[in-house]
Amino acid sequence: MPPGQRAPVPALERLATYHRHLLDLEQESVVTISSAEMETHTGIPAAQFRKDLSYFGDFGTPGVGYVVTELRAAIDRILHVHEEQCLLLVGAGNLGAALVGYPGLMEQKFRLVAVFDNNYAKIGRQLWNLEIYDVARLKEINSVLQARIGVIAVPRQAAQEAANALVDAGVNALLNFAPATLRVPSHVMVRNVSFVQELAVLSYHVASVASVEQPSDR
Ligand code: NAD
Repeated sequence: MPPGQRAPVPALERLATYHRHLLDLEQESVVTISSAEMETHTGIPAAQFRKDLSYFGDFGTPGVGYVVTELRAAIDRILHVHEEQCLLLVGAGNLGAALVGYPGLMEQKFRLVAVFDNNYAKIGRQLWNLEIYDVARLKEINSVLQARIGVIAVPRQAAQEAANALVDAGVNALLNFAPATLRVPSHVMVRNVSFVQELAVLSYHVASVASVEQPSDR
């Protein structure tokens, strides 16, 4: 890929999927894998897999395939998941508590380093191993922590305010769990996560399958 050109976001999403499967394959001591076998594992066509990798260089050997450990390490570097990434969390509620307590984050080198809330009943208390700070201190605290990823787990009405505070504190990537459309400067990337939205897509699928099912299928 020419310098300065960025890979399309869907390619990055698929790269993260390949990465997860490669970690599993490493655990199973699989040494090499072909693009056809990757298709079987991920459901992503082999040609798409090869095209996605081609944005970042030449990988694999004809007739041999890809060395699992090498490809996983290469994707580590591409996605920058080989270095620890510090995250800030705004919203120490139900979802926030579940995120802080999730051990899988650390396994992937993502470290939640500070939690913020605006509820004085929560500020100063512990959420798992982290103290909950006043959201008004976000910029001051991040001037020390230097985290660049922010996670938003506040109610919809407070999401823009939380985003503004995070961006003002130097964050340039946001993972937004709130059902709100955020307005951010162009250098900030937002990824919205909604399990209700995902369920709506599954609901459509369930309805489509039901409409073509024959009575004898039941
Ligand atoms: P919650 O009410 O338990 O927690 C919200 C927290 O945000 C509270 O601690 C509250 O004090 C804090 N807060 C409110 N305004 C704030 C502000 N301006 N600054 C800092 N903190 C503030 O809610 P929850 O169940 O944890 O849900 C949090 C958000 O996540 C909601 O927007 C909800 O819709 C969303 N959610 C999304 C998914 C998903 O799949 N994306 C799943 C569950 C919840």
